[in-house]
Amino acid sequence: MNQSLSTRITQMQESATLKMAKTSRELKAQGHDIIDLSIGEPDFDTPEHIKIAAKNAIDQGYTHYTPVSGYPELRKAIAIKLKRDNDLDYTPDQIVVSTGAKQSIANVILSLINPGDEVLLPAPYWVSYSAIADLAEGKSIEVHASIENDFKVTPAQLESHISSKTKLIVFSSPCNPTGSVYSKDELSALAKMLAKHPTVYVICDEIYEFINYTGQRHTSLAQFPEVKDQVITVNGFSKGFAMTGWRLGYIAAPLWIAQACDKMQGQITSGTCSIAQMAGVAAATGDMQPTYDMVTEFRKRRDLVYKMLNEIPGIKTNLPDGAFYFFFDVSAFFGKSYNGFTVNNPEDMSTYLLKEGLIALVNGEAFGDKKCIRLSYAASQEKLITVCQRLKDALAKLK
Ligand code: PMP
Ligand code: GLU
Repeated sequence: MNQSLSTRITQMQESATLKMAKTSRELKAQGHDIIDLSIGEPDFDTPEHIKIAAKNAIDQGYTHYTPVSGYPELRKAIAIKLKRDNDLDYTPDQIVVSTGAKQSIANVILSLINPGDEVLLPAPYWVSYSAIADLAEGKSIEVHASIENDFKVTPAQLESHISSKTKLIVFSSPCNPTGSVYSKDELSALAKMLAKHPTVYVICDEIYEFINYTGQRHTSLAQFPEVKDQVITVNGFSKGFAMTGWRLGYIAAPLWIAQACDKMQGQITSGTCSIAQMAGVAAATGDMQPTYDMVTEFRKRRDLVYKMLNEIPGIKTNLPDGAFYFFFDVSAFFGKSYNGFTVNNPEDMSTYLLKEGLIALVNGEAFGDKKCIRLSYAASQEKLITVCQRLKDALAKLK
């Protein structure tokens, strides 16, 4: 490592999801028959009407710098979408559009956290939350949920970790990596608890909003008036509209937080891509059928993988209600070996499965869990069947 790099970067963990995706891309390029279920991104193409809007944007000259927080027409479209889908009232100036929800989260954390402030992370959590909190010199505190409780924390559990230093809570529902979805009643109870702590803010990451199999409409924490001023709703276009490469995410937040994020973004990236923004207008206001079709297929895959995982001795899993991941417990195999390689933790397991099973899954430690690994089922049913067979065979060799 170059000695002149900052401690900020030398201490930063590489994103485990992106690292595994890179490794499997490299192995594939060398001719290895790897099936990559590491990165979480829809394997569907962006819907046609969104692509057309982007092409029109180029032809119509939407090729210049945009306002830092996004074009007014996009922020207005998002405000309408938030009312339509989430029953949330936000004015366009409370919305900041960014280069992906990842940047939205970074903007908020860097705007709110002072060194030493505590950030509560219901665990398992998405990999980048802790890395960004570290970047802001905050102190991440994991609040562990168990597979038996569908990987959800209770308000009492969270409250027991709130101290005078607690500034922020960050969680996703539907959750990456567990697929868990907090119900309206659970969020209502959470809102009641949080309202007792008005100086604690909450990032509610709803990027998987549409990928929900509960049959219930998505509930946003900000819907509960007693906590609305404490909540920053994060969302984006990557998952629900199969637009990962377009890099388009946003927050809806109290005005002072939106203004801080605008200032932060104005010094780091400016407004995101003008063409992607005009595509976002089409996505937010257009036909939702392609999204619903995609979710129907994800649901079939979820059911298929659930059945197959349950047929593998030693694996323990919950039934995810949303997103497109399984986060299953492989601790029954810890201490077992094959060919001189012993699996003692999730990282060893993901290495073993890559080498012995030719499948790329992500080590659960990056998500704050010591027993599980993550499988993204955003892949064809055919691939998923092969993966589960490879998984079964590789695990059966461990003695
Ligand atoms: N939050 C969660 C929970 C995610 O899974 C992702 C996916 N990368 C993001 C945020 C960031 O999404 P993007 O930057 O592609 O909008
Ligand atoms: N959200 C995806 C994942 O968790 C994309 C990769 C990333 O940005 O971490 O795999």
